[in-house]
Amino acid sequence: MDLTLRRKVKKAVSGSLAELYSHDLQLYVLPPTCSISLAEFEEFAMERLKGNVQGSGTGQTEFELQMRKRDHISHFILRLAYCRSEELRRWLLAKELDLFRLRFHALSAEGVRLFLQGNKLDYDPIPAEEKSRLRDCLYESTYMLSSVQIETYEFYRVPFLDVLDLVRARKCFLSSGYAYIPSVDFISVLSSKFRDNLSHALVMTARQLPALEEDERLFLMLKGLHNTYTGDDYSINKNTTGVRPEELDSLSRKSFPLCMRQLHEHIRAHHHLKHGGRQQYGLFLKGIGVSLEDALRFWREEFTKLMDLDKFEKQYAYNIRHNYGKEGKRTNYTPYSCMKIIMGSVGPGDTHGCPFKHTDLPVLKQQLYNYNLPTADIQAVADLVSHGHCQVACMKYFEVTHKVVPDSIVHPNQYFVQSQKALAGKEGFKMDTGENSSLSSAPTQKIKMDDSDVWGDDFDVSALSTSAINAVNSHTEK
Ligand code: SF4
Repeated sequence: MDLTLRRKVKKAVSGSLAELYSHDLQLYVLPPTCSISLAEFEEFAMERLKGNVQGSGTGQTEFELQMRKRDHISHFILRLAYCRSEELRRWLLAKELDLFRLRFHALSAEGVRLFLQGNKLDYDPIPAEEKSRLRDCLYESTYMLSSVQIETYEFYRVPFLDVLDLVRARKCFLSSGYAYIPSVDFISVLSSKFRDNLSHALVMTARQLPALEEDERLFLMLKGLHNTYTGDDYSINKNTTGVRPEELDSLSRKSFPLCMRQLHEHIRAHHHLKHGGRQQYGLFLKGIGVSLEDALRFWREEFTKLMDLDKFEKQYAYNIRHNYGKEGKRTNYTPYSCMKIIMGSVGPGDTHGCPFKHTDLPVLKQQLYNYNLPTADIQAVADLVSHGHCQVACMKYFEVTHKVVPDSIVHPNQYFVQSQKALAGKEGFKMDTGENSSLSSAPTQKIKMDDSDVWGDDFDVSALSTSAINAVNSHTEK
């Protein structure tokens, strides 16, 4: 008897561009094999992190094919950078799913058909007789659709486990373990497939990571990538009017994200913050427009309630000037992004960090209750937190407190800017949004990876592929 275990090995992607990238929507089943320079490696990763990946349907021009190739490579680069912890995996999964859904919704009916065909997803609509027989059930279960739409849309019969979100929302007809869904909801099936594949691939990639990290150039880049904030730069305070310390109490209630509101309340109540809190809050204040002189005054007034002036000047004032680039290396330090705060470590007795990540749920709920949030909203936030969706919970908090749905929140200072704009819209309060205002669109931050000296050589993406293929193969052997 032959006991040899035969491994079913999947090959990496190879072939002509037109064959490989005929469609804008990709499932990223196979890793790329090609050489790119290290500069491109970095550029592709940044492009994807900034959300600048293009989508163009099913066009076949050289430009469109090249864009899809970039999309393919950048997806796999981020897999490597975001596979190392549960938190990072969850973050990437959410971002990639959003992108996938966005692109799917932009497809024409023909685009959807080509995508299904190209990926050998043989889902056939149910026959007309079956649809006619189930017509009433389909109508009642898909209450968002009119009877005309029921006639127009194709319906598919899929295992109910593939569309749990629709089942949970009672948006489909169930029979004998199958769900009947209209073509407009077909994205649920694909999202579920996409999520499962990527989720497993990320875990598998994490196992291959130690081998990859033997390459110091890659190690440095991958290690730093998830901490690289790619949004607006809040380190430059150009706010002509500025924010005065006297305004902070009111602003903290109206416009600060919870992480900063709790730091502000802590310093007002205890007249002290530990180092982590001073850094997180101090840089945030700089970003919203508190000048160095006002920052020194604010911290001095609080700290000297518990210590003498001399001690404050010797132990704390230097650090505040340092954050404003007036001491030491004279670096103009950047306010912390959500990712940096969420991924940072928080010890017992610390007050910094993200409350949606670092605060115990009962304590967080009590805090929201103290802020007079309605019980149902507190529960909605708590549900998001218990599923690990810190930034989405923060968005919910914004929505509840402003009655406006915000853009994705990636930075406490961006939260503040959005809040001020929302309040300006509601109360007729005119913000200074001119060119010199820190609340106008700030210049995009120049991304700098660790040490540019290590980026001299080209890098062969196929080296990544060895690990990625292993990950893929581990997946297929599941
Ligand atoms: Fe602060 Fe960001 Fe957490 Fe919101 S998600 S509380 S802005 S760290």
